[in-house]
Amino acid sequence: MTDIPRSSSGRRTARRLGVVTGAASLAAVGTLLLGTVPAAAVTGGAGVGDPYFPEDGNSGYDVIHYDVHLDYDPAHPDHLAGDTTVTARATAGLDQFDLDLKGFEVSGVLVDGRAARAVKRTGDHELVVTPDRQLRQGQRFTVRVRYAGAPPAEGWHILDDGGAEASGEPHGATSWFPANDHPSDKATLATAVTVPTGWTVIGNGLPGPTTVDGGRSTFRWAENHPMVTYAATVAIDKFTVQKYKLADGTPVVDAYSPGLAIDPKTPQLQSDIISFLSSKFGPYPFESAGGIALGDGQDVPNGLETQSRPTYAGGLWDYPMTHEITHQWFGDSVSYTDWRDACIAECVAQYATQLWDEHLGADLDTDFYQGTLKDVLGDPSFWSTHIYDAGPGHELDEGIYDKGALMMHALRRAVGDADFFATLKRWTSEYRDSNASWPDFERLAAKVSGKDLTGFFTAWAHSTTVPADQYLYPGSLAKVRITR
Ligand SMILES: [Zn+2]
Repeated sequence: MTDIPRSSSGRRTARRLGVVTGAASLAAVGTLLLGTVPAAAVTGGAGVGDPYFPEDGNSGYDVIHYDVHLDYDPAHPDHLAGDTTVTARATAGLDQFDLDLKGFEVSGVLVDGRAARAVKRTGDHELVVTPDRQLRQGQRFTVRVRYAGAPPAEGWHILDDGGAEASGEPHGATSWFPANDHPSDKATLATAVTVPTGWTVIGNGLPGPTTVDGGRSTFRWAENHPMVTYAATVAIDKFTVQKYKLADGTPVVDAYSPGLAIDPKTPQLQSDIISFLSSKFGPYPFESAGGIALGDGQDVPNGLETQSRPTYAGGLWDYPMTHEITHQWFGDSVSYTDWRDACIAECVAQYATQLWDEHLGADLDTDFYQGTLKDVLGDPSFWSTHIYDAGPGHELDEGIYDKGALMMHALRRAVGDADFFATLKRWTSEYRDSNASWPDFERLAAKVSGKDLTGFFTAWAHSTTVPADQYLYPGSLAKVRITR
């Protein structure tokens, strides 16, 4: 959650850094902060040090909250106006820092209410801000950015009727608000979106008051648990909205784009899925739930675990709901440390759809595990993905999902049901609302089970060939024979 290591006991650097770019920025800034020379402010880095996306995120501060105001008219979908205030804490004295924002004309930047001394755009998405006054280490500050223009398609998707949907992993957020765009910096989010009256806006979290003024309506939403930027969303359409409550009182808001079939059984199904997953993972981590169902075949992602209210292309069916709702625990509440960690979200979410099938009567040893192995044992390409650290551009490869789900079942058989589900529950409680890495998961599974799982995880998560039989068929799993 912290972008750069804090310096110890007031020892800070006297050197003024240029904008640090590239993978070495985190280390470079960290080292200088720990230097011995007494000091002035530093320049925040243009990246948080992600091994895959060195310019994602920024160093020098930690965002606490985003307050995003947007103005959008579906009759003019090539224009979006934004007014976003970012509240953050400086993790170093700063005379300059970056936000991530792609495209748009920026018309004004205020830091703590005072016009910035300088603002420039560099690289793919850097908004470089020089505040009028230096920021002290530890200081809480606000940055207000006003911007307008054509929203980049990477994270802002225009629907067939002119409505829009904002989401995108890994980089979608910068297409609609200035952010510290890296999963390691989680923050709460409030959205207020003004649209012509007749359109509806759905966002993350709990709804606030909707106000109407001169033929325009402003919808407000607030997610009070810290979230990764890629899990932020707003969706604008002529939605049909259904509201109900889970058994524990958690409010649910489901929204359906025009023309989508609404199954009257969905509220019960979604409640059952959340209740089932809670029995496996621990208490549901957020204070609201629901889904945003967008018309199929439109230019939107297949589905995304937008926090507390996943986005679906098409209807709310059990397979995508089980996957995306699992992400509320795995990915959203407990988030990546960096983009090597996809398995902590996708391996579990993909396996959860099997757990749901098991709940409905499937035998996972035969129907899922051995059935899949029969198809893939002779296919080297299936095994070629590194589940951990798949490589830049491959961070969300399908192989992570498919091989990862098999690995989860093998792990369950290797450590037994009690320790497997205890590991999942301990993971979601120990790291709730924060970040953890795939190596953290490996360590926790070994700790909970008391077993040395080094060989198991090396074979499954860090190799590109079929695991040896002892790891492929742990516990009661019977060997699969392929006949050709
Ligand atoms: Zn997923």
